[in-house]
Amino acid sequence: MTRRFVVLVDLDDTLLPDRSAAWEAVRATLHACGVPCPPQTVQSVFDVARSRWRSGPYFKELRDLGISSWEALWADLTLASVPRAAAWGLRYRAEVWGQVLRAAGADADREDAARQFVLRREALVRPFPGAAAFMERTAREHEVWLVTNGASRLQRLKLGRSGLERYVARVFVSSEVGHAKPHPRFYQVVSEALDRDRTVCLMVGDSLEGDVRPAVARGWPVVHLCDGPDDGDRPWTRVGVIGDVVLPCAHGS
Ligand SMILES: [Mg+2]
Repeated sequence: MTRRFVVLVDLDDTLLPDRSAAWEAVRATLHACGVPCPPQTVQSVFDVARSRWRSGPYFKELRDLGISSWEALWADLTLASVPRAAAWGLRYRAEVWGQVLRAAGADADREDAARQFVLRREALVRPFPGAAAFMERTAREHEVWLVTNGASRLQRLKLGRSGLERYVARVFVSSEVGHAKPHPRFYQVVSEALDRDRTVCLMVGDSLEGDVRPAVARGWPVVHLCDGPDDGDRPWTRVGVIGDVVLPCAHGS
């Protein structure tokens, strides 16, 4: 039996910019609606979204599935386990933009603003520099498994638009698994999928809590993508950009 070596890779802010892309799409949408957009106005969109998200009827279910308020501004929330979330999500987007536009005294149409944000955010789905090369060289001798939190349709849309899908052997999305990283049940599903002839030889992610610590707890080697100050001794490797990740192993046939 041939042993297979698996590299687990996170998606958002590991292979693709997420927070910075959301910020830029909000800024561009405000600008298109004629709203001046200093940083505090851009931030106010995230604040309004979070507030409405938390007071929404499906907050707990969606949070437990790993879906965040800013992702829901462009995510298709079609989910088997929360069947009414998709229709509610469309109202949520419009209400967030309506509140933002009212506060700014702008007379732009809220539905149009919501649509503009989706288009602008979709246009910003581009891998980090070096991400495609990392995936290409990793997939030569390993199985690359994507482990990501978020809404199923959104995460799969991002993967498809990124051009990286061809390198990915398996996809684990929190809303499909039923639990979000770092919940032990999420990682249990991944571990069970390894079966007897597969072993994890690396995990790569940007989240200490969601990616790094759960991998350390399972004895998997980890690279933490992080450009902050060095924090001294730790049982994982740190690099600033995905292109600098060096695989700790070679499994040439
Ligand atoms: Mg991430």
